[in-house]
Amino acid sequence: MRSGRRAQYVTLAHASGLVCGIHFSQRQLRVALADASLTVVSEHEMPLARDHRSDNEIRRVGMLLADMLETVSADRDELLAVGVAISAPMDAASGMVARPGIMRGWEGIPIGEAVERTLRVPVVVDNSSNLSALAEHRLGALRGQSDAMFIEVSDGIGAGLMVGGRGYRGASGSAGEFGHTVIVENGPLCRCGNLGCLEAIAGGDAIVEGLKTRYSGLKLGDVIVRAMAGDDVCIRAIAEAGAHIGVAAANVASIFDPARIVVGGHLARAGELLLGPVRQVVDRSLASRLAPAPEIVAGQLGARAALMGALSLATDHSSAFPAGATSVDLRVALG
Ligand SMILES: [Zn+2]
Repeated sequence: MRSGRRAQYVTLAHASGLVCGIHFSQRQLRVALADASLTVVSEHEMPLARDHRSDNEIRRVGMLLADMLETVSADRDELLAVGVAISAPMDAASGMVARPGIMRGWEGIPIGEAVERTLRVPVVVDNSSNLSALAEHRLGALRGQSDAMFIEVSDGIGAGLMVGGRGYRGASGSAGEFGHTVIVENGPLCRCGNLGCLEAIAGGDAIVEGLKTRYSGLKLGDVIVRAMAGDDVCIRAIAEAGAHIGVAAANVASIFDPARIVVGGHLARAGELLLGPVRQVVDRSLASRLAPAPEIVAGQLGARAALMGALSLATDHSSAFPAGATSVDLRVALG
């Protein structure tokens, strides 16, 4: 597309309004602007300090968003809604992080209100695993699935459940706390304060911690790169995490019988090195059932899943999009 044509497309695409998606995770910030059809017109990502503070980061997003709107020649009043993904369990009633110790700089803060005060646009907030599941359902590996599960394995572990084609939230909105299911009684201390949580045994931080004596200064990305290059120790560490995740996934699968389990998040970049052991344990654990075991596949949206989910959530909450005026139609109109 020539630049003149592109500028014309961008102008037409956001004539019907734009939405913003933001994903705050433990170590990373992602921000994107998209039109009604979820076509991303501007996107940024940057690292965050381990115990970053919410007020600083919300202010930073405010400035970044102003720049991004300027880049696509959009006015602030063209921004209709903002979706925010938080990589921590969320309490639906209070809009606050529901478990201490996971994102310390965000505890006790009604996140939607705080973001709304700075951005001055309606804001909706959800847990990043729920939003990754939503995005994979709309755009990726969960398309057409009715009863399914999305497992996110990054520094921590989370899950989004899909029942009857809709995200399942539970009574308090905190369903899917897969990472904090106990798989080893009196096991290692989890950052949530509990003992023996899956996350404390098979999450990215736990994998890195377990390799610390052998390799100092290693990050999760390095473990994946080394494993993919054939390093036996790193391959085994990922496989053991996969086997533990498989035990927990088989237990969840026994309860709600998903047809498909999608594995995403940072560690999913290890591909079959992670998925193989998960599948093996799930298949073995469910072998006595007459029903087939759930399919275990990789996510299609990679590290952007929660961000795309935040954008999807924002489009769901912006009633201002005129019916039919999506960028697809506009693209056709442009020829
Ligand atoms: Zn825990």
